[in-house]
Amino acid sequence: MIILTTLAAIAPTFDVEAASRAYLDTLSGAARAKSDAYFEGGYWMLLWSALVGVLSYLVMLRLGWSAKWRDLAERITRRRFLQAMLFAVPFVFIGALLTAPWEIYAGFVREKHYGLMNQSFGGWLGEQAIVLAVNALIMAVLIGIVFALIRWSPRRWWLWSAGAVTLLLAFIVMIQPVYISPLLNKYTPMAAGPLRDQILGMAHANHIPADNVYVFDASKQSKRVSANVSGLGPTIRISLNDNLLNRSTPAGVKAVMGHEMGHYVLDHIQWMIAQFALLLVGVMFALWWSVPRLIARHGARWGVSGPADLAAVPVYFLMVSLIMLVATPITNTLIRRHEIQADNFGLDAAREPDGFAQSAMQLSEYRKIEPGRVEEALFFDHPSGSNRVHRAMAWKAAHLTDLPVDQRGVVRPLPPPLNASIIPPSARAAPAPASNVQR
Ligand SMILES: [Zn+2]
Repeated sequence: MIILTTLAAIAPTFDVEAASRAYLDTLSGAARAKSDAYFEGGYWMLLWSALVGVLSYLVMLRLGWSAKWRDLAERITRRRFLQAMLFAVPFVFIGALLTAPWEIYAGFVREKHYGLMNQSFGGWLGEQAIVLAVNALIMAVLIGIVFALIRWSPRRWWLWSAGAVTLLLAFIVMIQPVYISPLLNKYTPMAAGPLRDQILGMAHANHIPADNVYVFDASKQSKRVSANVSGLGPTIRISLNDNLLNRSTPAGVKAVMGHEMGHYVLDHIQWMIAQFALLLVGVMFALWWSVPRLIARHGARWGVSGPADLAAVPVYFLMVSLIMLVATPITNTLIRRHEIQADNFGLDAAREPDGFAQSAMQLSEYRKIEPGRVEEALFFDHPSGSNRVHRAMAWKAAHLTDLPVDQRGVVRPLPPPLNASIIPPSARAAPAPASNVQR
């Protein structure tokens, strides 16, 4: 034992490729085929989803529903802003009915088929109703503001509305963890125990207040392992889902926590909003240019008189669906860049490369693990499992002498693929491995 320790300390060598392979090979055969099929199917779903949206807007326009909703709103009130808000009600709810068959397939049936859904249909439907109600409220305000700007500045509304929508977005992001997320899940402080102490210790070391770390009951919806940073300014927080705590080793939880701390410390939410603002300027300009042209061609048939007519709302959303579909690789790449930064921050903060690799393998239950380079650039908003496992192992190779001796070898990873057995509760608060106290 002493000889081995000495040897490892003198000449630490570590084969990044072999170590990565050992992890990646734990997802194989039917489980890997299933994960690939689920994720690749998602590429086409992007297209179908946009087309279903476009079709629903065309139905509203061609059947004259949109014009009727405008007439109704104008009969009820003379106030323009209220008219716009009233218009949003049938637009959102009847729109949801039109796309319901697709949403039920994409959001429930398909998830159930791939074994990712824990909810009954009734439970799922109930949550969709809550989401729809929140959407209707947001949509009413959004349509109210944008149409006020369209009337106020016909030539420059695209610029003003990009700014106004960004402010609205920032406001929603800020209130989301306090007023929106708790509508669907219960958020609680982490249960006391050694893992909590370590996690809050990591948070403290990175100047994140302890009461900004929450656990939420995602297991009622699905078995997905996940965590996130949400909120803005006074409401910013890190939330770990209970699947992560129940299905991961303490090292895996710490690694994920390190990643989320990266988002927190690197101000990724603020950056996301800023980038979204720029994207929005482009989207709004495209709307300003294209919608009047579409109305000039088809407006008479749709009962839409011009770009400031409320009945034109579905025309704007039709164009937004198409633009956002085309912009998917851009938005994915913006998010993916943040994710890689957070990964790298997390590796340094948690110093748990094997825990990180284990979590990357768990995330590959629903994300194709070894995509091609172009495929990853176009369709991945998070790095693929192989990308993450490789970076974790490269980090390990670069920091080998800093790691406890027993963690310097190629670790045979836990097999975490689909339908992996859940770690028994007794193991959840297992005492920390030696590496956890080194900091
Ligand atoms: Zn992330």
